Amino acid sequence: MNYSELRKEMVETQLIPRGISDKRVLEAFLNVPRHAFVPDKEKENAYNDFPLPIGNAQTISQPYIVALMTESLGLSGTEKVLEIGTGSGYQTAILAEIVKEVYSIERIPALAEKAERLLKELGYLNIHIISTDGTLGWEEKAPFDRIIITAASSQIPEPLIKQLKDNGKLILPLGTSLSQILTLVEKKKESIETLQICGCTFVPLIGKYGITTQ
Ligand code: SAH
Repeated sequence: MNYSELRKEMVETQLIPRGISDKRVLEAFLNVPRHAFVPDKEKENAYNDFPLPIGNAQTISQPYIVALMTESLGLSGTEKVLEIGTGSGYQTAILAEIVKEVYSIERIPALAEKAERLLKELGYLNIHIISTDGTLGWEEKAPFDRIIITAASSQIPEPLIKQLKDNGKLILPLGTSLSQILTLVEKKKESIETLQICGCTFVPLIGKYGITTQ
């Protein structure tokens, strides 16, 4: 299989026609080998237009959603980004292609270790991963220019707002465990502004400031 051809096709048929236009984002999608982040039996589907299972009952998001979240963060390349929900590490790699440093937190140790090993193998030197409850953030490395949460939450975790720089942006799927709205949060002095982007479905953010069962 010619994976680089499949990547090009993914960008041309799934991302550009739906409005993804940031050159840095499109370039990252052409570079990152998505097939390396999925289980062997899913490799042939790696560049298709849907999410895939990655083990431990978790999923790697549909390419378009990864692109939309990344583009919405308005990245210039100099940022320090915090990611909650490393999962396979695919979104982490996309971010690492674009920004200066990526700090990523995954609550399931087996997934964190697997992603860390793979990202090292692929040569990324600007990714730092720990396994703990990401809703508490990463105090020692704060403040962050951008924060991305790749699991569904019914609240914007308070510690993460605190750890975001003024004029910083945070994106998350906000809603119930069944359905959410991709929401962009901007911190302005002591207040926040929110922008609803589109409907989406993610696995739950399980933690102290994550999803609450309704
Ligand atoms: N961005 C990932 C997809 C992640 S799926 C990718 O590209 O593959 C969501 C991930 O969030 C899962 O791996 C889940 O274990 C993790 N997660 C859920 N609650 C969490 C929490 N409180 N802290 C850190 N990670 C969490």
